Amino acid sequence: MNAALVILVSLLVAGAAGVVALLVWWRARWVTAMAEMAGLRVLADRHEARSADLHELFAGLLEAIPYPVFVTDTHRVVVAANRGALDLVDLTPEQVIGRAAGAVVQDYDTIHGLLEAARTGRTQDITFQRPADDATWHVVVIPVRKVSAGVNAPITHLIMTIEDLTGLRRLETIRRDFVAHVSHELRTPLAATSLLAETLRRAVTEDPEAVPGFAARITERVDHLTQLVAELLELSRIESGKIQLEREPTDLAGLTEVVLERMAPLAARRGVALHTEMATDLPDADADGSRIAEVLTNLVDNAIKYTPEGGQVIVSAASADAAALPAAAHSGVPRGGHRVASALAPAARASADGPLLVVRVRDTGIGIAAADLSRVFERFFKVDRSRARLPDLPADPGADPTTGSDAAAPADATDVDNPTSAQAQGAAGTGLGLAIARHLVDLHGGAIWAESQLGRGSTFAFTLPIATMASAETPTSAPTSGLAAR
Ligand code: ADP
Repeated sequence: MNAALVILVSLLVAGAAGVVALLVWWRARWVTAMAEMAGLRVLADRHEARSADLHELFAGLLEAIPYPVFVTDTHRVVVAANRGALDLVDLTPEQVIGRAAGAVVQDYDTIHGLLEAARTGRTQDITFQRPADDATWHVVVIPVRKVSAGVNAPITHLIMTIEDLTGLRRLETIRRDFVAHVSHELRTPLAATSLLAETLRRAVTEDPEAVPGFAARITERVDHLTQLVAELLELSRIESGKIQLEREPTDLAGLTEVVLERMAPLAARRGVALHTEMATDLPDADADGSRIAEVLTNLVDNAIKYTPEGGQVIVSAASADAAALPAAAHSGVPRGGHRVASALAPAARASADGPLLVVRVRDTGIGIAAADLSRVFERFFKVDRSRARLPDLPADPGADPTTGSDAAAPADATDVDNPTSAQAQGAAGTGLGLAIARHLVDLHGGAIWAESQLGRGSTFAFTLPIATMASAETPTSAPTSGLAAR
């Protein structure tokens, strides 16, 4: 009995010891597991923080790239895009992320670049003109692989940058055209002058009486070249923002009088009458008087030049409400009417509502065809008189070698013996005057436009701000920054 009891107690003790040992072991496991879990949690937190850092870095890098960038997976589904990319396609992140790149960019060449990069695994570098909007795009698509998996690893993503070269292309074209124009404009009168000099040399022995005439015409051509160079420099100064306006309250009636006095001898020579129609209560303009005199001189000079003998040039100024001005002063949209056409210098827009000053130079001259009218404010643009079929273009007294220096340069060297043909072909002038006028009015925050009827006459008009008390108190210069070169 005792033995059995002893065995039972021993068994019980052994069992209890076993349970205690199990509990100790289990607790030790539990402590270890908890420690491991804590370690794992720290590791996970660290990975999460690092992944957030990398995400931020990636987003920062994406934004730091100065071009629009799209990142797609291998199925060309967009997974990331920077602000430039969103602006380019004019969509929100929600409308871009997770969508097929083809639906987002909607451009055949771009999608083709993505497909080729995914298919060949090679970088695609393409430049093309988009048929949709004529924009020039430079697109580069770079396939991305897992760096650790070697060069032949499968592609994981595609990075696509899009550079819009349209502005650069346009500037390059403008620069090329400008150089071509300048060299053409210089070559023609230089060739004519050289031919005249040769003719003069022969005349000294063969026809001495003609010598003064040829000498006078050489002077005229040199004057023309001098004017061309001066206007080129002026245009370049304006377009590079180097001109400072000296704005102050300016009496337009007085200014017009001074300009017309200066132009009177030319008008008298051409048999053109000059008139003014100034509103009696004309407020002062907030303007740089000498610059506006330059604009007026150009417009009046043109009006006289392109008006036949017996015609009139009328300069008027009045205040007007911006809203009451012709559509051309606001939108550049040609005004209706079957023989009336109008053109607005592209960069100029009547800036504000409310009262403005409007200056008009009206002539009864040859007029400008609608197709040409839209281009008269372009630099170097001259109406091709031979195509325009002009009614009664007068012979130009200035083309007579014995008269003043406002004569036309010949269209080419062969015109030396026929100066009026040069005028008939519109070779007079430089084609820069209206471009300069446009810039100067634009600098004042005004608009300039033209209306014309072929054979009836033209009206060139521009607006200026009215001087306020504030502008009267601060008459000093205004910088000319923000001027867009064309
Ligand atoms: P230009 O020195 O040739 O006159 P502008 O820039 O002043 O250069 O004028 C550009 C062209 O616009 C002129 O060549 C001329 O054909 C046309 N034009 C300008 N003003 C008039 C006008 N009042 N009447 C007819 N044509 C004009």
